Amino acid sequence: MILIIILVSSVLSKKSFYSPADAASMIAREKAANESKICGVEGCTKSGERSVSSKQAEKAGFSLKAEGRRVHLCKDHYKQFKKATKRDRELELLGR
Ligand SMILES: [Zn+2]
Repeated sequence: MILIIILVSSVLSKKSFYSPADAASMIAREKAANESKICGVEGCTKSGERSVSSKQAEKAGFSLKAEGRRVHLCKDHYKQFKKATKRDRELELLGR
């Protein structure tokens, strides 16, 4: 019962929080982000398929063209990224 109340109140507060102007600017921002979808790894010109946190990308051993919180990776680099982060997770598990 408490859970339902929390759910309902969070839905209601979201509705009153976002004005239509906010929604429009959010869409514009998202569109701009989609347009600059090129792989963020240095020396790569392929189009970015996935966006990941740039911290994790650096951890995976990529040198990035630009600083920012998110970075787009092309299919190939995303595969490398997945491999690198998977190895990280496995090592973490072994260390425990
Ligand atoms: Zn790439």
